[in-house]
Amino acid sequence: MDVDLLVVGSGAGGLAAALVGADDGLSTLVVEKTEWLGGTTAYSAGTAWIPGHRYTADAAADVAAARGYLDALVGDRAPGELREAYLAHGPETIDHLARLGISFRHSASVVDYHPEVSGWGVGRALEPVPFDGRRLGVERFRRVRRPVPEFALFGGTLMIRRAEADQLLRLFDGSPRAAALAARLGARWALDRLRYPRGTRLTMGNGLVAALYHQLVRRSGAVLFGAPATELITNGGRVVGAVVEHDGRTRRVAVRRGVVLAGGGFAASRELRATYLPRPVAAHTRASDGATGDSLALARSVGGAVSSGVDDNAFWFPASIGRRRDGSEAVFPHIWDRAKPGIVAVDSAGRRFVDESVSYHRFVRAMYARSAIPAWLVLDARTLARYGLGMVRPHAPGASRRHHLRTGYLRGGATVRDLAAAIDVDPAGLERTVAAANAAASRGVDDEFGKGTSPYGRQYGDAVHRPNPNLGPIDEPPFYAIAVVPTPLATALGLRIGTEAQVLDHTGEPIRGLYACGNDAQSVTASEYPGAGCQVGAALTFGHLAARHAAANAR
Ligand SMILES: Cc1cc2nc3c(=O)[nH]c(=O)nc-3n(C[C@H](O)[C@H](O)[C@H](O)COP(=O)(O)OP(=O)(O)OC[C@H]3O[C@@H](n4cnc5c(N)ncnc54)[C@H](O)[C@@H]3O)c2cc1C
Repeated sequence: MDVDLLVVGSGAGGLAAALVGADDGLSTLVVEKTEWLGGTTAYSAGTAWIPGHRYTADAAADVAAARGYLDALVGDRAPGELREAYLAHGPETIDHLARLGISFRHSASVVDYHPEVSGWGVGRALEPVPFDGRRLGVERFRRVRRPVPEFALFGGTLMIRRAEADQLLRLFDGSPRAAALAARLGARWALDRLRYPRGTRLTMGNGLVAALYHQLVRRSGAVLFGAPATELITNGGRVVGAVVEHDGRTRRVAVRRGVVLAGGGFAASRELRATYLPRPVAAHTRASDGATGDSLALARSVGGAVSSGVDDNAFWFPASIGRRRDGSEAVFPHIWDRAKPGIVAVDSAGRRFVDESVSYHRFVRAMYARSAIPAWLVLDARTLARYGLGMVRPHAPGASRRHHLRTGYLRGGATVRDLAAAIDVDPAGLERTVAAANAAASRGVDDEFGKGTSPYGRQYGDAVHRPNPNLGPIDEPPFYAIAVVPTPLATALGLRIGTEAQVLDHTGEPIRGLYACGNDAQSVTASEYPGAGCQVGAALTFGHLAARHAAANAR
């Protein structure tokens, strides 16, 4: 078998490279080692962080501000030229993808994760437009990796946008618009289920990978499933092919233009987590099972260098670990719910250690810094019923709460002291913390961590809650708590790359014919998380750059 461009991995980075390459006239094959399309991207919100994108009023000013922001945040912990390439080519990548049929909408109100750093912005995030999975046909549709069940309705079979989730919650206030939306989504879902295993209106990362796949096959690109790349083939220092296992056979794929490594990093490898991530080593991840770091070994075998690991080498979610009714394990990322009023996070001494409304990445960094592992999210009955927490949905029926109490996911106590005993936390410490939280809630001021003063945290609080959208009392028994632990959502350490995604060797020279993007490549922001979508944004940008370079440079 021979192709112009061979792409290893079918996530955002790999599919973007494949689509752009196929559109440039390259014969393109994606090999995907699992049976499913989309990797971690399919689980993700699909948000792309692209300063200066097409919806920005003054793109040049936004890019200049973002440059200062990234310089301050990242400094010399990642090569400045990679940041520059990201900023320079991100907007053009989105424009190029739009011409190829991949659309995003503007998430105009999303605030960057470090509003205390000059150059932060609002509205740099883009959300994939929902994709109609019926356009793939039944067989290809079945290949799209199912989303995180907890982020969808009806057991993970009905996907919605985040804005729609907020709107649907207004059903409980009797909103006619929410009822109309529910009816529309429900009718489409019911119709879909006559023919498809789940609803075909794909949102977020699922919609993104499905749209990329659709446009790829329209341009004669192909994805081979159950096909791990296990070896790279070189000739005269150039990568000229790869060995791929498929259907019990070993195939050699000859490659004319290049191999793009887009295997999604190593968040799912226990061994590599133990080697590169901080201690205590995370035992769980919500990343896809395929993210086991194969590409690091593949590239190293032909002289590729790995970035020097600085900081934590990962991006983090605090996640609670629960059991679904079918007995399977759920890793629930606490992305936004911590910011609601009436929730505190405490360590084993019952002390708060962070402003609970900071970004998920910053929250976990605080867990490590203060040895708050696990940390407990503590709240009362009123807050749990109103906003939900983790797998306990807002306005959940008593049976659901009892299920989670039975499995130990949710812990409860008639008094704060009882709750402390149930979670093995210092009772006096927890009582002091709850008393302080109640005083702060009535004044609207958090003296300890300033919760409610950051525009980032405020956006995920409750806008109508007074006097502070992030501060509420914890005084209505019973009291509840859920444990959270650090889980890497992606890895930051990866293959050293040049500005056009070429894999570099130890001397900084490109290895001809070899590219890396997405989590396989070193993070352009080191282990810093500037804003929502920086990984999908960089994956698309460097996937695009890799394909353009491969198309233009045969040698
Ligand atoms: C719940 C969740 C939400 C997230 N939301 C966002 C978000 O909104 N925005 C954002 O920027 N980031 C988000 N992230 C992180 C983001 O999803 C990932 O960093 C990104 O999607 C990784 O893309 P990728 O192309 O590098 O890899 P992936 O999407 O993981 O794809 C890699 C693929 O390569 C395959 N593969 C691996 N090795 C081989 C091999 N040897 N041969 C063949 N195939 C191989 C894997 O099976 C996998 O399918 C989120 C993460 C999670 C867990």
